[in-house]
Amino acid sequence: MPLVPLAEARAHVLGRVRPLPPHVVPLAEALGLVLTVPVVSDEAVPPFANTAMDGFAVRAADTAGASDDAPVRLEVIGTLHAGAATELAVGPGQALRIMTGAPMPPGADAVVMVERTAPVAGGRPGGSADEAIEVHVEVGPGTHVRGPGEDVARGDEVVAAGAELTPAAVGVLASVGVTEVTAVPRPRVGVVSTGDELVHGGGALLPGQIRDSNRPMLLASVAAAGFAPVDLGHAADDADAITEAFRRGADTCDAVLSSGGVSMGDADLVKVVLDELGDFRWMQIAIKPAKPFAFGIVTSTDGKDAVPVFGLPGNPVSSAVSFALLAAPALRAMAGRAVIDPPTVRAVVDQPLARRPDGKDHYARVVCRYDPDEGRYHVHSAGGQGSHQLAGLAAANALAVLPDGPTVEPGRTVEVILAG
Ligand code: AMP
Ligand code: MG
Repeated sequence: MPLVPLAEARAHVLGRVRPLPPHVVPLAEALGLVLTVPVVSDEAVPPFANTAMDGFAVRAADTAGASDDAPVRLEVIGTLHAGAATELAVGPGQALRIMTGAPMPPGADAVVMVERTAPVAGGRPGGSADEAIEVHVEVGPGTHVRGPGEDVARGDEVVAAGAELTPAAVGVLASVGVTEVTAVPRPRVGVVSTGDELVHGGGALLPGQIRDSNRPMLLASVAAAGFAPVDLGHAADDADAITEAFRRGADTCDAVLSSGGVSMGDADLVKVVLDELGDFRWMQIAIKPAKPFAFGIVTSTDGKDAVPVFGLPGNPVSSAVSFALLAAPALRAMAGRAVIDPPTVRAVVDQPLARRPDGKDHYARVVCRYDPDEGRYHVHSAGGQGSHQLAGLAAANALAVLPDGPTVEPGRTVEVILAG
C-alpha cells in the first residue's frame, strides 16, 4: 500500500468536516467558542464619569499655581465611595474626598490624587484634620477622570463574528451586560478504545493484559483542546461491539475517536467496521509514529447527523500524534476556528535526533526551551522514541519534525510543533 503524504490525509479529513450549526450559549459556558454573530454594545463603559484615583474631586481652576511650595487650601465637603451616588456639588474652594470608581460629583472636573495632598486642620476653632486639605499640584480639567464610553461606546462592536472567546472577551461582554452569545457549540467528542487485551483502571493484570491508557489520554486531549469529551467505553476486538460503540457515538456525539484496530493484524476490525458504515478511507500515512489511520462517516440512527469517526492507531504515542496531526485540526474546524493548528517555531537541535531514511517524516518527542539570551529555541529528545513509549511523550512539550533523511545532527534547526 503506497504511503499517503500527511497533507493529503489532512485534506481528505478536512474536506469532510463542517462547522457545527451555531447555538445560543450562556456567556458562562462560552469560553473558547467561536462567535457567529458579532456583539454590538448598546451600553457605554464606563457608564458615567468616575475617578481613576483615590483622592479629591476638585474644580481644576482652583488648583491653578499649586505646588509643594505654594499649596492651595480647599475645604473638604464629604466622602464618596465607589457604588455611591451624590447630589453634593463641589463649589469653588471645595473638594470632595473620592475613592477609585466613584462617580464624579457635580461641579468637579478633575481629581487630585491623595498622595499630592496633605490634611490640614479645619477653618473653625477645634476643627479636625478631615475638614480641609492642602493641594500640592496643579491639575487640568479631566485629570484622573475616566469619561463615559472611554472603554466601550454605545454602538461599538466588542467581539467580531469569527472571534474565539478569550477570557478577556468574556469580560468585555459581561461589562456591557451581555449574558448569552450565538456561537458554534463545543464539539462533543466520543472516545472508544478497542482491544481484547485492555483493562480499565487498577487491579491485577492477567497474563497478556495491559491497561487502557489511550482512552483516558484521548478524553484528556479532547478536554485540553477545549471540546466536550464523552466516554464511549471500551470495545473488544469484535465487529458487533465496535459497530455498537460507533452507532452510540454517532447518536450522542459530534465526532468519535477510536484507538486501535486500524493496522494489518487479524483483529484489526475498526477499519472493517468503518468500511461497512460508509464513506471510509484507510491510509498508511508517510509519518512515524502514527502511520495507520482510518476515517469514516457514521450516520446517526435518525439519519440526521453524519458523524466523522477518526480511527486512530493503538500504539499510545501513535494515537496521540494521530490525534494532534489529524483529529484535533478537524475538530477545531468543526468548532468554527480559523486557526486549526498549534504554533510552530524553529529550534536548534542540541543532541542528535536519530532516524534513518524511510520515506516518512518523523515526529520526535522533544523538550523545547527558549534561550532568552540567544533569542532562539533549543530542543533535545524527551526520552524513548518508540511508539509504545508513552513516558517519552509525557516528558515532552513539543514534537520536532524530522523530514525524511538521516539523523538530524546537533546545530541543525528543525520545525517544532509546540504542545497545545
Ligand atoms: P492495535 O493498533 O490495536 O494493533 O494496537 C497496537 C498496540 O497498541 C498494541 O500493542 C496494543 O496492545 C496497544 N494498544 C492498543 N490500544 C491501547 C490502549 N487503549 N491503551 C494502551 N495500549 C493500547
Ligand atoms: Mg488492537
